Amino acid sequence: MFMNQDQGQIGPTKCSIRGDVFVMQPVPQKHSLHPACYLCGATNIKKKFKVNDHHIVQCRTCSFVFVWEHWSPDALATYYKQQGTDQVYGEVENRVNLNYYYESLRDIIQAMKPGGQLLDVGCSEGQFLDVMHGWQCHGVELEPVAAQKAQIKYGDRVFNGNLEDAGFSNETFDVITLQDVLDHMPAPLASLRKCRDLLKPGGLIVVKVHNISCLYARITGSKYYAIVPPVHLSYFNKKTLDFALVESGFSVLSHKYISHILFLKTIFFRLSEGKQRGLFYHCFKLVEHSRLGKIRIRKNLHDIITTWAVKL
Ligand SMILES: [Zn+2]
Repeated sequence: MFMNQDQGQIGPTKCSIRGDVFVMQPVPQKHSLHPACYLCGATNIKKKFKVNDHHIVQCRTCSFVFVWEHWSPDALATYYKQQGTDQVYGEVENRVNLNYYYESLRDIIQAMKPGGQLLDVGCSEGQFLDVMHGWQCHGVELEPVAAQKAQIKYGDRVFNGNLEDAGFSNETFDVITLQDVLDHMPAPLASLRKCRDLLKPGGLIVVKVHNISCLYARITGSKYYAIVPPVHLSYFNKKTLDFALVESGFSVLSHKYISHILFLKTIFFRLSEGKQRGLFYHCFKLVEHSRLGKIRIRKNLHDIITTWAVKL
């Protein structure tokens, strides 16, 4: 999900299945270049890569990395409708792998907050809410099929649409989580500020993003798996995520690199980048229905940052 900073509108998400769909479709139209950094407003910008017909650029002032081409909410919505989906991430059998991260996150949150009102932005089918036992769980999901599945469990506490339209009152929530959401936003400050408004004083925000500065990203450069414009439009590291949170009225508490568990077949599929050819896709097809494919591998390349911050 993302929000248009200029208009305060929150636009579409591709988070129908939480996690990332590392498939880049051809871009159907040209987009104007955004004149300034989305975080600090500086216009001193340097080019880093060109990927999928998009410029990945970096602000020389605050070091934020972002997609230079500006995508409107409508254009993104159209693009996402053409997207493929990850063939293995959403499988029922993958639930135990997803829960490894979710339960780790839950335990950390519960060490800081005893319970209360929780909002998961981009909640998909409610998989994270499912592990938050004892909390008053709310979700927002733009993708209608995923939202419907979450609504079966959580009723009207899950809103199908964007955060702006959900009608939540300010100072409602004790905790708001954005997992694999902020990377998709071209204007992340507006989204974080909206979350700040919705949090109670002293409320906690938890933000999970890909780390553009991890060793794996630095080695692989433009081939880093998370560089998937226009699916990912904002590319954070600890420094720029902290900056965004502080600019939005939060005090950063801590960062963690929490491990994820993946099936071997999921890793092959991800490495294939969704292309139905090449060595990794052949490996995926070889193990897709075998016990070998279901070998569970713990991944922690420091490529995912989870950050906790409190509303000032
Ligand atoms: Zn900047």
